[in-house]
Amino acid sequence: MIVDKSQLFGFYRDITSLDQGEHTILEYVWIDGTGISMRSKARVLKKIVTCLEDIPEWNYDGSSCQQAKTLASEIILKPVAMYRDPFRLANNLLVLCETYIWKDGRYEELAPANTNFRHFARPIFESGKIEKPWFGIEQEYSLLENDTKFVKQPLGWPRGGFPQSQGPYYCSVGATYCFGRAISDAMIKASIYSGLNISGTNSEVKPSQWEYQIGPCEGIDIADQIWMSRYIIHRIAEDFNVSVSFEPKLFKDWNGAGCHTNYSTEKMRMGEGGLEYVYDIINKLATRHIQHIEFYGDNSKRLTGHHETSSKDTFTFGIGDRSASVRIPTTTAQKKLGYIEDRRPASDMDPYMVCAMIVDTTLLEKSN
Ligand code: ADP
Ligand code: MN
Ligand code: MN
Ligand code: MN
Ligand code: MN
Repeated sequence: MIVDKSQLFGFYRDITSLDQGEHTILEYVWIDGTGISMRSKARVLKKIVTCLEDIPEWNYDGSSCQQAKTLASEIILKPVAMYRDPFRLANNLLVLCETYIWKDGRYEELAPANTNFRHFARPIFESGKIEKPWFGIEQEYSLLENDTKFVKQPLGWPRGGFPQSQGPYYCSVGATYCFGRAISDAMIKASIYSGLNISGTNSEVKPSQWEYQIGPCEGIDIADQIWMSRYIIHRIAEDFNVSVSFEPKLFKDWNGAGCHTNYSTEKMRMGEGGLEYVYDIINKLATRHIQHIEFYGDNSKRLTGHHETSSKDTFTFGIGDRSASVRIPTTTAQKKLGYIEDRRPASDMDPYMVCAMIVDTTLLEKSN
């Protein structure tokens, strides 16, 4: 059931708009030990924060986040990006953090915590910087009713059952086919307010599955933005008592959820090298297909060769082909410049891993 937030929290609405003086409320956000769930906690500073350097490091209990033992539980939060807080408004901020532990318990040297893939991706993005790699990611997600009796009860589906089969739901309008528009729509405004480079949204083929696109963004910025966008969509849905699921394949005979990753280098965008250069890039991706699949999220049930996906065992590409691993958009083929779409990443992928791998394979790897 969608709950009207204004009825539930009407009283608090007045409290949240109270003047907060020279304070900044910072919501520190991080990825927990699962590599997909996110956590956050708030900190109040008695000053106005204007840049990342103003935000101190912090820590949390890693033993409660599947990241540390109780005896050495502390994980250090290092702020890496900040966004305007679309929930607390005013000068408050959402702060994306990397996570670190003390190496060997000696308090001398830090080591990245188990799911801090940003730490490893950073030097790869740094090396590929000169080619100005851009990414645009299509993040798909499912909306689930928050009902403990039915763990996977998609929003608007019959209780424990299935709706009319796929066909009318993609980009649909009307209450018969379209479930959860208020959440998707709130995501657009929240993202713009926060400073995320959102470029669109649409409802998907599977009912109450949605997509938003972030990008184009250059380098590591895309991955930072995708993680913060995931946090924001969770928070928005929370207000409706709805859960967001990034599970790549909720039901066998229904479309799965992906994270199509659109990619270009400056050379591709300028049309230098023409289509030949585009095919060179795709060939490089082809030679490392197996390695990429390993780091592209949980595709075990999703990449079947059906439901607008390729098979995970073979690399294919094609112009305007939505059954290929990599699609060359028709406009790219026609203009001989533009970008390509890697359709393999699953909705639960880590964007640091996926985008760093693409940079590594297409720009840094010399042997193929
Ligand atoms: P699809 O047709 O596959 O559904 P979408 O419109 O959902 O594509 O998403 C396309 C994505 O590609 C957007 O996020 C957009 O910002 C991104 N994009 C556009 N141009 C480029 C480019 N030159 N390099 C990388 N990404 C790009
Ligand atoms: Mn405490
Ligand atoms: Mn799309
Ligand atoms: Mn889609
Ligand atoms: Mn796509």
